[in-house]
Amino acid sequence: ADKQIKEWKYTTCGYCSTGCSIEIGVNEQGNAVASRGVADADVNRGKLCIKGIFEHELFDAAGRGNHPLVRDQIHEPYKEISWDVALDTMGEKIKAIQDQYGKDAFAIVSTGQLLTEEFYTLGKLTRGCIGTNNYDGNTTLCMASAVSGYKRSFGSDGPPGCYDDFSHTDCLIAWGSNLPEQHPVIYWRLKEAKEQRNFPLIVVDPRVTMLAQFADIHLPISPGTDIVLQNALMHVILKEGLEDKDYIEKHTNGIEELRACVADFDPTSAAKICGIDEDTIRHVARLFANAGRAMSIWTMGLNQSTHGSDAITGCNSLSLITGNIGVPGGTSLSITGQCNAMGTREWSSCSGLPGYRALEKEKDRNDIAEFWGIDPEFFPKKRGLAQTDIFPAIETGQIKGLWLVATNPMTSMPNTSRIRKTLEKLDFLVVQDAYQDVETTQYAHMFLPAAVWAEKEGVFTNTERRVNRVSNVQPPKGNSKSDFWIFSELSKRFENGKKITFPATPEEAFEEMKTLSKGADRNLDISGMTYEKIEQARGLQWPYREGATDNDEGARLYTDGKFATPTGKANLIPLPWIDNNEHPCDEYPFWLNSGRVVEHFHTRTRTGKMGNLNKYSPTPYMEMNPDAAAKLGIKHQSYVRLASRRGDAIVMVQLTQRVAPNAVFIPFHFHDCVNRLSLGLLDPHSRQPAFKQSSIRIEHV
Ligand code: SF4
Repeated sequence: ADKQIKEWKYTTCGYCSTGCSIEIGVNEQGNAVASRGVADADVNRGKLCIKGIFEHELFDAAGRGNHPLVRDQIHEPYKEISWDVALDTMGEKIKAIQDQYGKDAFAIVSTGQLLTEEFYTLGKLTRGCIGTNNYDGNTTLCMASAVSGYKRSFGSDGPPGCYDDFSHTDCLIAWGSNLPEQHPVIYWRLKEAKEQRNFPLIVVDPRVTMLAQFADIHLPISPGTDIVLQNALMHVILKEGLEDKDYIEKHTNGIEELRACVADFDPTSAAKICGIDEDTIRHVARLFANAGRAMSIWTMGLNQSTHGSDAITGCNSLSLITGNIGVPGGTSLSITGQCNAMGTREWSSCSGLPGYRALEKEKDRNDIAEFWGIDPEFFPKKRGLAQTDIFPAIETGQIKGLWLVATNPMTSMPNTSRIRKTLEKLDFLVVQDAYQDVETTQYAHMFLPAAVWAEKEGVFTNTERRVNRVSNVQPPKGNSKSDFWIFSELSKRFENGKKITFPATPEEAFEEMKTLSKGADRNLDISGMTYEKIEQARGLQWPYREGATDNDEGARLYTDGKFATPTGKANLIPLPWIDNNEHPCDEYPFWLNSGRVVEHFHTRTRTGKMGNLNKYSPTPYMEMNPDAAAKLGIKHQSYVRLASRRGDAIVMVQLTQRVAPNAVFIPFHFHDCVNRLSLGLLDPHSRQPAFKQSSIRIEHV
């Protein structure tokens, strides 16, 4: 009452992919002053984590951009300019680079933070007007391996399960996923379901995370050896005849190839590589296969690895051989990172064309070209560079200009010293962000101030394919503009922008997406949704086809055992083991691991400025085992210098048994810290970097 709230406005949380429904309290002056969870929302049932509770504070957090800024050289001060001049200049610079060096010499990297309608509009601008093929999202740093693994196993992206599966499962394995800190409200759903039905929870993680402390069985695996454990589990299941033979026969391809591969991974041999004793491997395999309904979930512990895509197919194969796909409690569920990582996968056109269409398919190119009214020859015929390949292409001079939309590679990419030198080589760097003081702006020639989250209209898709509404609870701050407006206005500076009609409002963009999503063969059909229906239902899961009256079809994919492959059967993929991790050695004797803390999100662009979050986690730190620290004479809360083959960083030590004596853990959110050290070798399928398998040494300062 003392905040004098005049109205509560419905929206969806803009941090993690849980997708909590949230109401923002707005006072007489139209300012957001409070946040609360929505009680009748199925996802969160009134709950929010600490980030959601204080989300209204981000509108006025320090460092918001107010004016478009420009400068010729990065050592010069910025000058304020109007939006018209900024967009004219940007259009001219892009065209000049493309005229001199070719269309692909200008690259674009976006994010998982925009609204889905904005992704669609950016895709229309990039694929339809600018014409560069070097367009990707920062989701390559978090979810690319899940996308790749789903496509290889099931023929399409799209997590097949949902949170309701927790309430039906008889066994759950969590791979590299620390829900209490990463996705606290999903953890609460899991905890509630486990308390009701007491199914075994198995956590695979090198670190004793909060989720590991809640588990029945913790498997402290050697870093980067997940596929060895997966192969060993499948070895036991197949050898002991615990597989679902009928399901395998009817719905999968490749069982003999898989059987031949896992034959080499008997528990005795596998234990020597993955560090989990052979009896425990056998016990977990039997628990999973005999459970009835069993499921896997995973997050960055699997994705951020040189074999991330393989490990996702490993989770999928475990589910497939036990008949656990498309049934309540039986699934293989990627827990996505960002609030709208799913929306960018579905509609941004980063690696293809909107609506899960592929550049490689002529029909898909023709469909979109016809719908947009342009020549299909304008589209490239195969995917361009991923984000992690765009930076090396800048180093070699192949790329001369870059547009970063709501992403901050100076903190988020591995080996940030190399990224700094790379950015300095660009002829033209544009940073578009709600916050002017993101580290990457230091290296930009132009800054475009964007509206933030609930200053805009649209939808997000959460980790269980639930599309939910984001409403503008207050207008964009200062002279900032919605990303949707920026993309539409920039399109007018290009030849094709005069031929293509850009939607006038986000809702018009949503209507275009609905039309493009239609079809019995499209699993992401959203044609039955409207903004009103979505908000009334507190989110609807796709597929939700024209005429749908309930959400039933969207709960799970592949319920009929038909997959999106040419044969309609899922692929069981053999996973040979190649150890390409950067192992500890005499010179660099510790494994380096990284992850999240509950108070912060990504590179702290928002949460680092909000007193009610930053005060609980104000500084980077390193978890270190007390026995290892004693050997080196390192004390609790002392500062140490860390060195890897890439760079160095200073951090404060926190002594804890959570980490093994040969490993350390550092939260990844802080600038000039863990990613100065990380290696980031790439997964060959997904191009996602390995953030968690590097080695370092620790020195006194
Ligand atoms: Fe937001 Fe995720 Fe927290 Fe829910 S769990 S309030 S979606 S950050």
